[in-house]
Amino acid sequence: MLKLNAEIDALKGVGPALKTKLNNRGVRSIEDILFLLPNRYEDRTILYDIQNAPINEHVLIAGKIIESKILFYGRRSLFVKIQDDSAVLNLRFFYFSRSQLQQFKKNTHLICFGLLKSNGKKFEMIHPEYRFIESSKAFKLDDKLTPIYPSIEGIQTGRLRNLVGQALNIMRTSQPNEYLPEYILKEIKMPSLPEALTNLHQPPANLKHADINEAMRSYKERLSFEELLANYISLRQLKLLAANTTADSLQDGKNEVSQFVQTLNFQLTAAQKLVCKEILADLNKPQPMMRMLQGDVGSGKTVVAAIACLKTIANKKQAAIMAPTELLTEQHMESFSTWFAKLNINIVKLTGGQKKSIRENNLRQIEKGEANLIIGTHALFQEGVIFKDLALIIIDEQHRFGVNQRVALREKGSQSKKQPHQLIMTATPIPRTLAMAAYADLDSSIIDELPVGRKSVETLVIPNDKRPSVIERVNDACTKGQQAYWVCPLIDESELIKADAATDRYEYLKKIIKPLKIGLIHGRQKQAEKENTMRLFKEGKIDLLVATTVIEVGVNVPNASLMIIENAERMGLTQLHQLRGRVGRGNQKSHCILLYKKPLGSLAYDRLSILRETNDGFVIAQRDLELRGPGELLGTKQTGLPQYRIADLMRDAHLLPKVQKIAETLMHDFPNKTKKIIMRWSSDDQHYGKV
Ligand code: ADP
Ligand code: MG
Repeated sequence: MLKLNAEIDALKGVGPALKTKLNNRGVRSIEDILFLLPNRYEDRTILYDIQNAPINEHVLIAGKIIESKILFYGRRSLFVKIQDDSAVLNLRFFYFSRSQLQQFKKNTHLICFGLLKSNGKKFEMIHPEYRFIESSKAFKLDDKLTPIYPSIEGIQTGRLRNLVGQALNIMRTSQPNEYLPEYILKEIKMPSLPEALTNLHQPPANLKHADINEAMRSYKERLSFEELLANYISLRQLKLLAANTTADSLQDGKNEVSQFVQTLNFQLTAAQKLVCKEILADLNKPQPMMRMLQGDVGSGKTVVAAIACLKTIANKKQAAIMAPTELLTEQHMESFSTWFAKLNINIVKLTGGQKKSIRENNLRQIEKGEANLIIGTHALFQEGVIFKDLALIIIDEQHRFGVNQRVALREKGSQSKKQPHQLIMTATPIPRTLAMAAYADLDSSIIDELPVGRKSVETLVIPNDKRPSVIERVNDACTKGQQAYWVCPLIDESELIKADAATDRYEYLKKIIKPLKIGLIHGRQKQAEKENTMRLFKEGKIDLLVATTVIEVGVNVPNASLMIIENAERMGLTQLHQLRGRVGRGNQKSHCILLYKKPLGSLAYDRLSILRETNDGFVIAQRDLELRGPGELLGTKQTGLPQYRIADLMRDAHLLPKVQKIAETLMHDFPNKTKKIIMRWSSDDQHYGKV
């Protein structure tokens, strides 16, 4: 008999092609497909009269065809008129084939399902699902709501429904897949896993469509709970593991560090001094440091990283810094080269875009130990990169990296029994309770002040039909020797489309403000091109830099004092704050202009106004979270919180205290079950499996 842990292609109808598609979505075992939840449900349990059907809802209607023809005015479409005892309904298809056209014969009966629209007199459905029937009475209605699955490329929702059905049958007959002991389920007052899964995929008969979300909530929570539990336990275990692992105790380097601090052309802030002390104390210990450093944009995290690196290198060990973009890598190369210019430190860069010969040379230096400091993107931790003696890993702008990557990193340094120290830096402020759940494996340090003399960025919120006057302002500022960023509309997540939008805007601005030197930077350019543009901008040879959000993290050009952000209404406040952090870094007063597209609702306007009122990242993050309702356009992606398959840290925050409590109980009393739970929820069991 089939078991839930069998591979997905053991199900009927899953061949190699379908298997690959499912695998790509993280569905490997039969059980995995049960965790692919429907994103909505349709009601095909009721047949409506056309006249009495609810408008603007998906409804089932049956009728007789009284007319069908092709319409040529407007967009060419197939037009089918059906009639029941109450009224007439127009069906319209914009995509149709010749054979379809012939099927819609006068006097045949059909049943259709779709979104019903009406202007009060006429009723219409665009592209309904339909099938032909014998007569308007001769068919069987569904007795349950129909689950609709998220679209997976090339897999029809009906196909998924079938596979899930098979998997549910196997669940009912094979070994139990509930890993939470009975008494714990009682304590947390939640349904069992099989019950939750069954109901989510096959809602009970007679459940009304209007009640479905409420009815499904507890089942969904049961799954969220377990996912949060799996994540929390694996993080806790990582921390326990670290306490039992050895690291290089870095004892030398006191003088080097204090001399270095003397050479800086600024004084460290009290907050920077404090976090340095915490970090240096950790590095001194024979267990690996696992620390997160939070600090608002511009608070000066990089120099703290430099101090930690210097300490490591003074102990004759290697340090590595990983940044999320090549742009940021390049900038760190520059800062560190300048800071360490007089010290005998060999800094090596490692990115994906490097030439093979350069890369090979770098790899050799890293392996031989000739490279003291290695700065790169995630290419740093790919196969083939062998460190001679890595004692410190720093991850900059952590919000782009998930738990899995954190685990992978830790393994990377541990060719021997020792592990490198780890410092994770982020500018995304996270409310404390959430941070405890999401980063249960890390200690935390916070830089809670900006360097003295920083002027806050004055922010304006302006509709985009005022763009001409904004352009004039850019022209004025740049003519007076200032520099500016123009951040392009966020039309789409696709890099290609973003790049196109930026290119269009670039061409447009170039035409309008001829005297200015305008540069363009986006994610699809070649590395060398990006670097060159950035260098020119830094040297003041470009006045206005048109960019996509690639400049969101870390870019540091102090002379830039004006930023325009288009379609600001479509971005998260935290992201806008990050972007805005690119200006206000030098000594002149800086401005940020948020352009929005009209009409803008008052709530959306108020949201943007928060940025006008404060420059404090923590306040902004908190307000952003409060205002972010369910179904909000922006997901967790921009909050700096990790993404889950089913759970949502914001929505499920109330579960966290329970999660923490049950996690401790399970780890203590049922270590075997914790393993199984973690395996079930990990997208990459290889890594979690080692925990
Ligand atoms: P972030 O925390 O956003 O990464 P950076 O490390 O890039 O910020 O620092 C922003 C700028 O502030 C850099 O030019 C840096 O050299 C400068 N800086 C850092 N610390 C101080 C300080 N204590 N006083 C003045 N300037 C500082
Ligand atoms: Mg930074």
